[in-house]
Amino acid sequence: MKHRIVVLGAGYAGAGAAGRLARRLHPGNTEITLVNAEPDFVERVRMHQLAVGQDLKPRPLADMFEGTGVRLRLTRVSSVDVDRNTVTVLDSDGADEIEYDTLVYALGSVWNDHGVPGAAERAYEIASRPGALRLRERLARANAGQTVTVIGGGLTGLEAAAEIAEARPDLNVALATAGDLGDRFSPKAQEHLSKVFAGLGVTVHEHAEVARVEDGAVVTLDGREIPSAVTVWTAGFAVHPIAVATPMETTGTGQIIVDGTMRSISHPDVYAVGDAGYAMGDTGEPLRMSCASGTPMAWQAADAIAARLTGGKCPHVPLRYFNQCISLGRKEGLIQYVTANDRALSFSLRGRIAARYKELVCKAAAWGVANPTLGMPVRRKRIALEAASARTTSAAAIKRRTVVDRTATGPNTSSGRSRRVRR
Ligand SMILES: Cc1cc2nc3c(=O)[nH]c(=O)nc-3n(C[C@H](O)[C@H](O)[C@H](O)COP(=O)(O)OP(=O)(O)OC[C@H]3O[C@@H](n4cnc5c(N)ncnc54)[C@H](O)[C@@H]3O)c2cc1C
Repeated sequence: MKHRIVVLGAGYAGAGAAGRLARRLHPGNTEITLVNAEPDFVERVRMHQLAVGQDLKPRPLADMFEGTGVRLRLTRVSSVDVDRNTVTVLDSDGADEIEYDTLVYALGSVWNDHGVPGAAERAYEIASRPGALRLRERLARANAGQTVTVIGGGLTGLEAAAEIAEARPDLNVALATAGDLGDRFSPKAQEHLSKVFAGLGVTVHEHAEVARVEDGAVVTLDGREIPSAVTVWTAGFAVHPIAVATPMETTGTGQIIVDGTMRSISHPDVYAVGDAGYAMGDTGEPLRMSCASGTPMAWQAADAIAARLTGGKCPHVPLRYFNQCISLGRKEGLIQYVTANDRALSFSLRGRIAARYKELVCKAAAWGVANPTLGMPVRRKRIALEAASARTTSAAAIKRRTVVDRTATGPNTSSGRSRRVRR
């Protein structure tokens, strides 16, 4: 019997984890299945580029995983049963069940309208490819002089506003942010950002928390009405409701709570990586939703699974930050160096060199998915049967304990812990 590892989601985290597992485990007694709704690997970090009309390099998952031994299953996950170790998928042929021994949950995230009235109906999002394509189509129809308002002063909002303003100088681009423009950056970086936005003609509305989105305008909490023919919503990400519908321990926002090896704290057969997982970084603070977090999370999960199955020592992958890389159109950028827990340092790279650096980072992130052991030699170990059965026994014991605990506290209670969701 082969040990069945099922990875849900082929984004930066899931595809990275699947590829790394395939290079660590011998196909003789493991089987790795990667489940994804779409046939391509989507470079989410470039969705603002797609939205303004740039064409992205197609990256079919079938090509990416050819010869790796990873089995691809292109279908949509509708639910997970962590007590029966099954995943229900739904495609044109109807519903089907996939059984697993180990599950890696990496379904990523979607946009988060925070329930603001009018946002779901009237705003455009760029957290997904369909969303970015919808905005692309709308921008192509936008007439000169119309206002495009980007909501959210986080990294995604800054990138989106700059990209739209650069690609469409005939439009009035505005950005509404709850705080000050670039208030997460060092003073020099903030100054640079203001200069680039002024050069691109982006109007900035600071302390402008949006209360509702109307036809042709957004209205702020303090009653300001900002004209907006096209509203682009970038204020945070939300996770899929699939995990929260299970008895797994999740945060108030639905992320799966994991330990330092990315293993669910309630269901040891399950690992969660990327935006879908709630993990602490090396400094003891929660990791933010980003590729910068998702990639090391994927490496950590894959290495921990491989070590546990092969009876090896569980390695530690550093979970810390180095910099925040922001594109400001194609010609300008900003690289803000940060502490291990993501706070701005005084040092930043700015200008054209920063734009090139950011482009390199995006390319490297996609390359890293296709080369998850970073060019290191492939070492496929057979799983140690004793280690696997010990793991299964202890997993079953923890699961039994969880079921008993749940009976005491009621089903589907989340930990109640919540976090600010930002990129
Ligand atoms: C415009 C933009 C710019 C960004 N820039 C940066 C940046 O510069 N740096 C950075 O670190 N982060 C950036 N991010 C954030 C980053 O893209 C995400 O944090 C990252 O993609 C999360 O990776 P993931 O693997 O967890 O999820 P995803 O990349 O979202 O992948 C999830 C995968 O699961 C699949 N999936 C989802 N639901 C189902 C289902 N029900 N069934 C089957 N498959 C499913 C999806 O098709 C997808 O392939 C940016 C995001 C955006 C939108």
